This record gives sequence, C-alpha cells and structure tokens, in this order.
Amino acid sequence: MIYPWQTSLFSQLISRRAKLPHALLIQGCAGLGKTDFAKYLAQSLLCETPQNGGEACGECPACRWFEAGHHPDFRWVSLQEEEANDDEPLTGEGKTKKAPTQITVDAVRGLSGFMATSTHRQGLRIILIAPADALNVHAANALLKMLEEPLPGTLFLLVSNEGGRLAPTIRSRCQRVLVNPPTAADSQSWLAQQGVEQPQLFLALAGGAPLEAMRLAAQDTGMRTSLLRQLSRRDSSLSQLSEQAIKMPASEWIGWLQRWAHDLVEQKLVGHPRYHLDFGEALELMAGQANLFDLLAWERQLREARRLANHPLNARLLAESLLIPCLAMR
Ligand SMILES: [Zn+2]
Repeated sequence: MIYPWQTSLFSQLISRRAKLPHALLIQGCAGLGKTDFAKYLAQSLLCETPQNGGEACGECPACRWFEAGHHPDFRWVSLQEEEANDDEPLTGEGKTKKAPTQITVDAVRGLSGFMATSTHRQGLRIILIAPADALNVHAANALLKMLEEPLPGTLFLLVSNEGGRLAPTIRSRCQRVLVNPPTAADSQSWLAQQGVEQPQLFLALAGGAPLEAMRLAAQDTGMRTSLLRQLSRRDSSLSQLSEQAIKMPASEWIGWLQRWAHDLVEQKLVGHPRYHLDFGEALELMAGQANLFDLLAWERQLREARRLANHPLNARLLAESLLIPCLAMR
C-alpha cells in the first residue's frame, strides 16, 4: 500500500535500487503510513517482474509469498512476532496480559539463522524493523553489531517517528529517508476521497497527519464533543465532567484535554486554536479568562499525567484533579 504523498519518494528510491545502502532509516511524523511504505518498498525490491515504475507486480511468486506473509527472504521484526489479534481481550484466564511495548533482544537475535543462510530467490534479503523506536537497549546493541558488519545483498529498513527514541549509534549507521506530510490541502482532499466528513477538523485534531485523521474520524464516537461541550459550559459540575471524561480510555481523554490546553495557549498567543477548530468560540472566551502561567502549568500537569495514564488506580480521582484547573478559567 502506498499513499499519494509517498509516490515521488518511492520513485527516487526504486530508481537507485542497485545502489541502495545496507540500511535505510525511514523517518517522519506519526500517522503518515511509513510502515506501509517500507513494506511496499520491500515487496517492490523483492518482486521478480516489477512494473515499469519499479512497483511490485502483485502476481509473481515473490509477490504472492510476500502478500501471504511468508516470503523466505523477508523478515519483519516488530513488537509481536505473531499477528496481533485486535479482538483478543487484554485480560484472559485471570491474568493480566500486558500489550508489548518493546522489541526485545530475542527478536533481533532470532534473525541470525535467517542471516546465515543464502537467499532463497537469489535476490535481496530484507529485514524490516518497525517500530524501530521500540527496540530496547539490548536489542539495539544486537542490531548495531549487524549494521556494523553488513552482509552483501542484505537491506535493513528501519521505521522511526521523528523525535523517537532510536539510539544515535543506530541512526548514524543508516541512510535517512524522510517521509514528509502532504500539504493541508492535499491531505484534506485525500481524506474527503476516503469518505471522511469534516476533513479539515480531523486533520487539525490529528496534528496534520492524514492517516491519524482518518483513524480519529473512523473512531469518533462523539465523546470528545460531549466532553468539550460540557467543559465550555459554566453550569457543568466537576463530577459531571469527570464522569464524561472517564467514559473514554485515560490516554484518550487526557489527550483531548492536552490539545484543549494547547489551543488555549495558541488562542492567547496567536489568536486561533490549532486542534479543536469546532470549538473556536468557546476557546476564545475561555482564553480571555485564563492566565498564561496557569495554562502552562496545566499543560505540564496533563503531559505528566498522560505519561503515567495507562492504568490509573482511580480514574475518577485522576479526572477530577486534571479538570479542576480548567474550571477556574470558565
Ligand atoms: Zn511481483
């Protein structure tokens, strides 16, 4: 899968297919489809009868294996070796199963057999590491050794978010490929083509990343609107507000409040919000009441809370403590 904002980058890379370095670091902000791009590039490089523009044909044996997830010369090192099952509850059999957040050293060491044998199709051997920001220290060290002694015919594709946590030692061994976001106008028209209503709003809420905008639009349950509508009204109580907030997962409602706080700061400093474009009037009113230093302190409080927000011990208490500073601004 390739998105319109990636086609020229793809052409640049594929036209240099014979001269690619042994490791590419595909970087850009979140929500741009960088992993999809890396997979598309890998499939095109492994395809045995590529099209004129270098794109994978989708029909040769290599493409069929790739699409079925078992091309013998391709490995994807990710958070989970097995495919994630979205329907599976996080808790089962009385135990709490933690969603994986790291790529472990075992996942990287698991590549050694794959690297030791010759390629099956006499072509490239490709290893995709995504999200590379999730490599833990030991895994990064193991990978570093592989990058320091590159094998001929082997290409590493690392996918990382800008500002991610990837170690500088790894970064310096890779050639950087920057995926740029499309212009706002291009993103909006693409979102409209995908059937997203209010593309401008969702693009703003997503901070300009089109795939994130699509995800937000698809998952929009109206809870953000309900929470912010209550927040803007002076007659809603703290307990009503926190009740509304905790209908959502903690990271989500804190995220909306963080954007709200950011919008209030922007409203004060530059005169318009950045994210919640549909609450411009309420933000303007509230920004008029708010003190900049209080806002910055509230932003800090929210940022800290979001870092720890995955499993709050008492969601309601957390919501109340994070909402109080905002009530004084109404
Ligand atoms: Zn093919």
